[in-house]
Amino acid sequence: MSRNITILGSTGSIGRQTLEVMEALGMGAAALTAHSSVERMEEQARRFRPELAVLADERAAADLRVRLADTNVRVLSGQEGLLEAAALPEADTVVAAMVGMAGLRPTLAAIREGKRIALANKETLVCAGPLVLEEARDYGARILPVDSEHCALFQCLEGNRDRGEVKRLILTCSGGPFYGKKRQELQGMTREDALQHPNWSMGAKITVDSATLMNKGLEVMEAMHLYQMPVEKISVVIHRESIIHSLVEYCDNAMLAQLGTPDMRLPIQYALTWPRRVAGGPGTPLDLWHCGPLTFGEPDLDTFRCLALALEAARIGGTAGAILNGANEAAVGLFLEGKIGFLDIADKVALAMEQVAPVQDPALGDILEADRAAREAVLASR
Ligand code: NAD
Ligand code: MG
Repeated sequence: MSRNITILGSTGSIGRQTLEVMEALGMGAAALTAHSSVERMEEQARRFRPELAVLADERAAADLRVRLADTNVRVLSGQEGLLEAAALPEADTVVAAMVGMAGLRPTLAAIREGKRIALANKETLVCAGPLVLEEARDYGARILPVDSEHCALFQCLEGNRDRGEVKRLILTCSGGPFYGKKRQELQGMTREDALQHPNWSMGAKITVDSATLMNKGLEVMEAMHLYQMPVEKISVVIHRESIIHSLVEYCDNAMLAQLGTPDMRLPIQYALTWPRRVAGGPGTPLDLWHCGPLTFGEPDLDTFRCLALALEAARIGGTAGAILNGANEAAVGLFLEGKIGFLDIADKVALAMEQVAPVQDPALGDILEADRAAREAVLASR
């Protein structure tokens, strides 16, 4: 299948798996971007020969330029470079796989060029869902979810003609590495403990979010925006095996589920090939005879307070998502640096939500300000 793809965040977990899918399906790379991983970017640029390679970090980009001097790959740096890559005319598809709110502006730049957006960067929708979707409508950019739960919902909704027939979206949640533990047991959990995810191998930030269950809260907001559903119609079910990726319950009580191995290359591929299904991708098939029993349970919102806080932010609306997300990014950063404890993450997010007042119907400036103020509240509270 012929596609020309730009990846924002090509050196990360989603970025590298996207390149595996592209290689298997014979798709080309238009631009590759990352923060500062020079060696990995050099290797990717030599292998995929994009028109453009961008490193946000200036010094890393200068090093990359020297390393790639014998090729005709153009090297750019900084925010400007990211925006140019996102809007590059040669690309028909942009994979938004940067981590965090930093992905918002480049994603908007790609949307404004009417690209197909394969969206992994959920923070973008959590902070600026209505704005991103409105621009996508205005510029004719199709947004296809890469997040496995949202790709599952997308597939379970494909035959649905009337959104009024949908009773509930049900997001599955593995429970993360600390499933079954109570608050006092989480007290001393370290960076290393939190980075051990039972089913998925992902970047550090999302792995910590999966341990606090903030990831599932962000995903509830992502689903709200993508599928235009109120938070009351979205549920979370603990499903330890990560085989069912999410479900849709209809008004006649029929439930549709999407199943597959826990392998991100499957939803990445569907976002790239939709509306077609294509054989020959690198994703692993599911063996039902040997995948074992599937279990379901209720999330523990008292222990995993981040999920409760995210549901509250979803109910408040406006900039509450940007406040929650900005505070969480700052708090997870501090936790990864060993400066705060695991339970402090939820405390810091709650504090920012108390201190920063949400604004309804925000413009981009309000969202950026909410993000800044929330981060400041977290950093000032140390
Ligand atoms: P990662 O940390 O492995 O990779 C992030 C990529 O973004 C890297 O290439 C990095 O260089 C780049 N990047 C980070 N900050 C940047 C900045 N300021 N400027 C420019 N580039 C920057 O993260 P990941 O696990 O691949 O996750 C990426 C996104 O996908 C996140 O939003 C995450 O929530 C979402 N997601 C990931 C998974 C997964 O399995 N990893 C699943 C679902 C959704
Ligand atoms: Mg997910």
